[in-house]
Amino acid sequence: MSRARTPDSGPINPPPRLLMGPGPITADPRVLRAMSAQLVGQYDPAMTGYMAEVQELYREVFQTDNAATLLVDGTSRAGIEAAFVSLIEPGDRVLVPIFGRFGHLLREIAERSGAEVHVLEREWGTVYPPAEIETALASIKPKLLAIVHGDTATTLAQPLDELGPLAAKYGALLYTDVTASLGGNTFLADAWGVDAATGGLQKCLAGPSGSSPITLSEAAVSIIEARKSVEAGIRVEGDAVRSDPIRSNYFDLAQILDYWGPKRLNHHTEATTMLYGARECARLLVEEGMDAAVERHRLHGTAMVAGLVGMGLQLFGDQSVRMNNVVGVHIPDGLDGDRARAALLDNYGIEIGTSFGPLAGKVWRIGTMGYNARRDAVLTTLAALEQLLRRGGVRLTPGAGVDAALESYANAGAAA
Ligand SMILES: *Cc1c(COP(=O)(O)O)cnc(C)c1O
Repeated sequence: MSRARTPDSGPINPPPRLLMGPGPITADPRVLRAMSAQLVGQYDPAMTGYMAEVQELYREVFQTDNAATLLVDGTSRAGIEAAFVSLIEPGDRVLVPIFGRFGHLLREIAERSGAEVHVLEREWGTVYPPAEIETALASIKPKLLAIVHGDTATTLAQPLDELGPLAAKYGALLYTDVTASLGGNTFLADAWGVDAATGGLQKCLAGPSGSSPITLSEAAVSIIEARKSVEAGIRVEGDAVRSDPIRSNYFDLAQILDYWGPKRLNHHTEATTMLYGARECARLLVEEGMDAAVERHRLHGTAMVAGLVGMGLQLFGDQSVRMNNVVGVHIPDGLDGDRARAALLDNYGIEIGTSFGPLAGKVWRIGTMGYNARRDAVLTTLAALEQLLRRGGVRLTPGAGVDAALESYANAGAAA
């Protein structure tokens, strides 16, 4: 019996990189260290303690008092799937206003959960005036209004503060995907009337992907509890309404809530290492303070934008609603955007992002988030990008980008 030998280049030793794209970003070393800690059993009192801490930390991160604040194991879309498959019963109406790629993902997951999905669409680079959403809520009367907060595909954030009250007025729950925005942009789950929000670690939380923090209002929890697999199909409190059982085991939030709750009922095997990482991500933010973290993202995001504009690049989308942590720029005419990105990686070890859909090949996306929302990361990226543009034949004043960023920092310092 012969088998090809598996090639082995030794222990993992990735090249040094500065990840300045729209995510994933370079992880904070503290998160990586936390993830190298030894395992304990999932019912070890130490583990129960870590889980309680995680819940308390993420209440602060989401700005909520929701008891149902926990982690779903898996990347960010695991949180989305868990929320949708647990909240949506087949045939429920769901309204999804789409303004970028991740809105299409919400639509798809809602459809797969059996919803009757109604979408709104707008040109990429814009967001919705609340009145447009209100008109749709009034005519469609959905059970759930599902919208992305910050869509990294377009770099813009939909203002949410008016949507919670509007959803409530028409009897809908409000769900939002905060994967890209959380930690770098103000997000107030309770004050804005959000019923369900899900995130990820790989953007402003400075960690790797693989864990999805989620928070659920009491109204959302009661819908989920009514669908408990053992009770589903049985009359709920004498009411004739029958609830459909949740169609996923892994993403059954009723079971996951019991697992995280005081009963600690068995569900899946805890992804302990991810929990250590998610805990450290939240500790970093809470130590810094949520407002201070948003301000840090604003400071470095603004300096990056100033530098890009200083180099003569044109920004993409409605800048009044741009996220603090990522900016889109039009790729200069005559320059091959993908070749330039490859050269940036080869020569400088710096990664920036391309775009999808209507923006593919036209726009780069550059992030300043999490661990990389730092002055040295901003200035290094601008210096390297300028060099590449000049070699690519783009005419610009040498040093203009870095100078503009330095000026932006000086102005921020003077204002502070
Ligand atoms: C980056 C991002 C995701 C990522 O989802 P994964 O499952 O972790 O790939 C989801 N939603 C939004 C809005 C994002 O920006």
